[in-house]
Amino acid sequence: MFKHVVYIEKSLSKNSAVKNIITRLSPEHIIYINNYKEVLNQTNSSWTFNKAYQKIILAKREDEFYYKGSYLTSSLNHPHFYYNTLALNCLYHCEYCYLQGMYNTPHLVLFLNNHDFIRATKNLLLQLKDKIYLALSYDTDLPALETYYPYCQEWIDFANKEKNLTIEIRTKSYQLSFLDDTKPSANVILSFTLSPEEIQKKYEPFTPSLKQRLKGIQKAINKGYSIMLCFDPLIYTPDFKKIYSRFFESIFSKIASQDIYAVSIGVFRMNNDFFKSIRKNGNTMDIYFYRYEIKNKVITYSEDIKNEMITFVKQELSRRGIEYIFVYE
Ligand code: SF4
Repeated sequence: MFKHVVYIEKSLSKNSAVKNIITRLSPEHIIYINNYKEVLNQTNSSWTFNKAYQKIILAKREDEFYYKGSYLTSSLNHPHFYYNTLALNCLYHCEYCYLQGMYNTPHLVLFLNNHDFIRATKNLLLQLKDKIYLALSYDTDLPALETYYPYCQEWIDFANKEKNLTIEIRTKSYQLSFLDDTKPSANVILSFTLSPEEIQKKYEPFTPSLKQRLKGIQKAINKGYSIMLCFDPLIYTPDFKKIYSRFFESIFSKIASQDIYAVSIGVFRMNNDFFKSIRKNGNTMDIYFYRYEIKNKVITYSEDIKNEMITFVKQELSRRGIEYIFVYE
C-alpha cells in the first residue's frame, strides 16, 4: 500500500517525520503539492476506484486543532467534550462508515504537526481550568496508523502529564505496539469497537477478526489500561437477537466484565447527505437500501426497531455485569 505515489505538502519537504515515512514506504513517485485539499477534494473520479488505489498525503494542519462536540452526543456525558482530527480517512473500509460520504476521495491524510495539536490542547486546558474529554481522531483508526507516525504514543505521554485531560482512542486494530512503549493511566481510555463475526466479515473487510481484536483487548487489560467496548453501529438483521447474544457470550467468556470501564452502544445512523453521497458513489451494500426513518437530517432505524435493539443489548450487557452503558442516540 502507498508504494506507488506519496503526496507531500511542499512546506514539509524537510520534515523528519516525512523522511521516516518515505524511508519506510520507498514510493516510486513523490509529488509535492501546496495543500492536501488539492488531492483529497478531487472531483470527477470514482470513490470506489480510488479506494482500491488509495494514496497517502502528508500534510500540516494550520488551524482547527480541536472541535467542540455536542453535549448531547458527548462521550460518557462529559460536559467538556472535544474531538480532533489528526488524520482524515482510514486504512480500513467499513461499509457503514460515513467517511465514504464525507470526502470526495478516500485518500489518507496524515497531519504530521502533532505537536501543534498537543500545544493547542494544552492551551485549552489552561484556558478552561477544568476537565476535558478529548476523542482522538474519530475520522480514522489512529492505532492502525501508528506505524507511520507515533500519534498514540505521543498523546498518551501527554495525557500522563495532564490529569485534567482524558483521551479516548477508538480502534478496530489489534497490533497495539504503542502499548509496549507507554505507561497506562486512568485518563487514557482505549475504546475497542467490536462486531459479531457475521457482521465483521460482511461489513468490515480488511479489519482484524473478532478473535484478533479480543487478543488486543486482553493485552491492553494486562498492561493496566482503562478499556471501553464500543458496540456501534449495531446492525439490524432478522436474527439480530441470536447473532448478538452469541457474540456477547463469546466476548464475555474471554473478558471479565470487571475489567471493562464502560460500554458505548448505538444503532446504525448516518447524516442523510453522507448517506445519499454514498449511494451516488455506487455502494450497493444492502444497508444502503433499507427503509430507514429520517429525523433531524439523520437516517436510522424506526423508533420501534431501535428501541428493541437497544433494550435487548442493554439487558444482555447488564446481565453480564456491565454497569456503565452509554447509549448514542
Ligand atoms: S475503522 Fe472506523 S473510521 Fe475506519 S473505516 Fe471503519 S468505521 Fe470508518
